[in-house]
Amino acid sequence: MTKRVYNFSAGPAVLPEEVLREAAEEMLDYRGCGMSVMEMSHRSKMFQNIIDEAEADFRELLGIPENYKVMFMQGGATLQFAMVPMNLMKNRTADYILTGTWAKKACEEASLFGTANVIASSADRAFSYIPDCSDLPVSENADYVYICQNNTVYGTQFHKLPDTKGKPLVADVSSCILSEPMDVTKYGYVYGGVQKNVGPAGMVIGVIRDDLITEDVLPGTPKMMRFKTYTDNGNMYNTPPCYTIYICGKVFKWLKAMGGLPEMQRRNQEKAKLLYDFLDQSKLFKGTVEKDSRSLMNVDFITGDADMDAKFVAESKAAGFENLKGHRLVGGMRASIYNAMPLQGVCDLIAFMDRFEKENLK
Ligand SMILES: *Cc1c(COP(=O)(O)O)cnc(C)c1O
Repeated sequence: MTKRVYNFSAGPAVLPEEVLREAAEEMLDYRGCGMSVMEMSHRSKMFQNIIDEAEADFRELLGIPENYKVMFMQGGATLQFAMVPMNLMKNRTADYILTGTWAKKACEEASLFGTANVIASSADRAFSYIPDCSDLPVSENADYVYICQNNTVYGTQFHKLPDTKGKPLVADVSSCILSEPMDVTKYGYVYGGVQKNVGPAGMVIGVIRDDLITEDVLPGTPKMMRFKTYTDNGNMYNTPPCYTIYICGKVFKWLKAMGGLPEMQRRNQEKAKLLYDFLDQSKLFKGTVEKDSRSLMNVDFITGDADMDAKFVAESKAAGFENLKGHRLVGGMRASIYNAMPLQGVCDLIAFMDRFEKENLK
């Protein structure tokens, strides 16, 4: 018998069970072609249909306008930390908002190519909040303003986008992409690795406004790191991550069948509210993030006692709740409650935490 746990991993993370079952059924013989999607040529008609449908469904879910192009790339979000400056840093200057590990890494990478200014930061209070970005000292010659929109490690999220004073906004949405509706036109470039909230590891989806796709990239930028290489070649300049695209395509169809992003937002808000409300009344556990900066996707919490945290992680694992240990940089606990985490998983976790609290608060 198949045993499935509740997987609260930050990524790679839980996928919809329906999608996994469908993929299993199609594993040996994809729709009568006698082979799996892993084995077929990326130049075949069969695969062209898969990638075309995936892009069309993705565009439909986010309501992406004609003047934005969709890119399927490899190298993870981490390679984007370099691709962003290589493609967009024409004046060799960009402004970064530091809200955690991933923003910091992106900023450090950009400084290999030019001046990466830190124009706001929440480092002073251990990245437990999103700084006020309503009146930023945006550099006059900045090519873009960069944010990490949902901070996977610290559990904070921008609920209001910064005022970039007319500069293109670039955002890493790796851990919140497709969790709620998003107005793509507010961004110059937005990208996310898919292994958090969408599919298996191995791909980043980028959405870019077409005037930002140019030949005018930094000298020495390899072909595979130029946005234009992807948009000129239908995302198939070389062999794309075929199987990841196929699974992501299935997740897009699953999202559409669930009611699209407005419905996902409703569900995600419901799950997050239950968990945060529990934390707010608990006498043992407490959330680590300021209330108005809380992430819908990654919920960080602690007991305040490292031994008690370790006990909780061990006992929760034994009870079928996997991967609740916090990021190695911050300790404590983290429950990642992405799209595919069912409401029941969150309810069962809360019931378990409640029991644990009663047993351990004497
Ligand atoms: C996980 C993560 C990354 C790193 O992704 P890789 O695919 O491992 O390169 C970058 N940014 C955010 C917000 C993430 O959550």
